[in-house]
Amino acid sequence: MSAMASDRQYRQAIVQYGRMLHESGFVAATDGNLSVRLDDQHLLVTPTCISKGRMRASDMVIVDMEGKRLAGKRRVSSEIGMHLLIYRLRPDVRGIVHAHPPTATGFAASGYDLNRPLVCEVVVGLGSIPLARYGTPGTPELTDALEPLIPSHDAILMANHGVVTFGSSLESAYMKMETVEHFAKISLVTHLLGNEQPLGEKEVEKLHEVRHRYNGGATPSAPRRPVTADGCQSDSQSLLESDIEPKETAGSRR
Ligand SMILES: [Zn+2]
Repeated sequence: MSAMASDRQYRQAIVQYGRMLHESGFVAATDGNLSVRLDDQHLLVTPTCISKGRMRASDMVIVDMEGKRLAGKRRVSSEIGMHLLIYRLRPDVRGIVHAHPPTATGFAASGYDLNRPLVCEVVVGLGSIPLARYGTPGTPELTDALEPLIPSHDAILMANHGVVTFGSSLESAYMKMETVEHFAKISLVTHLLGNEQPLGEKEVEKLHEVRHRYNGGATPSAPRRPVTADGCQSDSQSLLESDIEPKETAGSRR
């Protein structure tokens, strides 16, 4: 969608990609959230406590860059702090998708990133997909864990939680979510077959050159062996189930 798209078109795009997230099984119940940068001062964000497969254009919330609600009847997503941080650190980003796709989230719940260079098109499209340590949803713990990874990645696994992807449009962010989940499935099958053949350093270097030439992408960190997330263990499984109600808005804590 072009930068000239109307408020109405952005609302319809969020409805459409929310439905696709739900139909793809990337979210359950009221999980997940999506947003669009309308201009320098305004974001259009999904509300909390609603199925992303059954939203209407009128359900969306407009907030300022502090997370303060300016329009909309519903309460904004409890993960608004994560969206605000990404938009602040990445002026190039105009759309964000957060979901819990089962395979990629399984990696994130097992302490594995998706940094292995196993598929050429993933290296070109996303570089590497790191794992952020666990942080309680809707709190600064979560945004603190993501912060160092946001400048140089477009897709991040969140330990014991899910995935966030972002791009120059909502469509681009959604496509990256599909790529992450698809790549997680490929990585799982590769692991099960037991004969992983990752691309060599020279091949990865060539793919990174292609990435920069065609995508103008963020600088990817070098792919590496899977690592265990530090300090991501948590018993707070109930917190991971849905887009929980915030005690206060993330914006008010800034
Ligand atoms: Zn979530």
